[in-house]
Amino acid sequence: MGISTVENFTVIVLPDTQHYSQDFPNIFNNQTEWIADKIQDLNIVFVTHEGDIIQFDLLEQWENANHSLSVLDDKIPWGILPGNHDLDLLGKTSGRFDLFFGVDRFNSESWYGGGYNGSNANNYEFFSGGQDDYLIFHLQYNPSLDVLVWADGIISDYPERKVIITTHSFLDYDGNRTATGERIWNNLVKPNSNQVFLVLCGHNHDTLRRSDIVEDNIIHQLLADYQDEPNGGNGWLRILRFSPKEDKIYISTYSPYVDSYKVDSDNQFVLDFDMNKDPISYSIPSEIIFGIVLCLIIVTVIFFLTRKN
Ligand SMILES: [Zn+2]
Repeated sequence: MGISTVENFTVIVLPDTQHYSQDFPNIFNNQTEWIADKIQDLNIVFVTHEGDIIQFDLLEQWENANHSLSVLDDKIPWGILPGNHDLDLLGKTSGRFDLFFGVDRFNSESWYGGGYNGSNANNYEFFSGGQDDYLIFHLQYNPSLDVLVWADGIISDYPERKVIITTHSFLDYDGNRTATGERIWNNLVKPNSNQVFLVLCGHNHDTLRRSDIVEDNIIHQLLADYQDEPNGGNGWLRILRFSPKEDKIYISTYSPYVDSYKVDSDNQFVLDFDMNKDPISYSIPSEIIFGIVLCLIIVTVIFFLTRKN
C-alpha cells in the first residue's frame, strides 16, 4: 500500500437519555437507528452513553432504553454506565441496570474488557482508530475510591493505549469539576495524564468544556446534557470526528430527530490531540532489530562451530 493514508474515525456520545426513556422513546430510537445507519459513512468505531439512561426506576423505562440501545448490538461496540437516576438512594444499582446492561450482555464481545466486582456499573472496552489503540472506561455516578483504584490498575495493564473516561458527573455549571469529578481527576485522570486525554460527562444540564495540561499532556473534559431542551433533549448527540493526519478532534452536535446541527461554539469546536500517523516508521525498525539479532546469533553459532582450540 505504500505510505499510509490514516483514515478518520468517529466516536458517538449519547448524553442523558432519561426523558426519552420516560416519555419520548421514538427519539431514543431515532438516535440509535441513525448511528447504525452511519457506521460505514462516518467510520464509527464506538458509541458511549453518559448515564441517566432512565428517569424513574420503572420497568417500562428500562425496556424502552433497552429497545433503543439493542439497535447497536452486533453492529458497533458500545458502553454504558448508571447515572444517579439509574441507581438507588444508596448509590447502588437497583439490579435493573445489571439486568438489562449487565456483564453477561457484553462478556462474549471481543471488545469488552470487563466490569468491576461482578457488576457492569463500572466497565471498560477496547477499540482502535487510525493507527492507535484505545481503552475506554464507563464509570458510574460517584464511583468509590475502590473503583478508581481498580481502573488505575487496568490502565497500568495497557500502557500503550490512549484512554477515554466516560462518567456521569464530572464538570459543574461553573466550569469547575464537581466534587466527584475532582476525586476522579485526582485519583485516576491526573496520575495517568500520559494516557488519559478525554473525559466525557453529562448530569448537569449544560454544555461546557475545559482542557487542563498535566506534565505537557492536554486532557480535554466535555460536558454535554440537553435534557432541558424540548422533547426531553430533542435527540441531540455528539459526533467526535478524529483526524489523525491533522492531530485534531472535530466535535459536532447533531440531532437525527430534528435533522439539524448546533453550530454555536459550545457545540461545534476543535480539539488538539496527538495521534500516530505513519505505521511504517514503527514497523521497519522492529524488523531491522530482528534481523540484526538473527545475524548476531548465526555469526556466534558459526564462530563456536568453526573454532579450533
Ligand atoms: Zn444525573
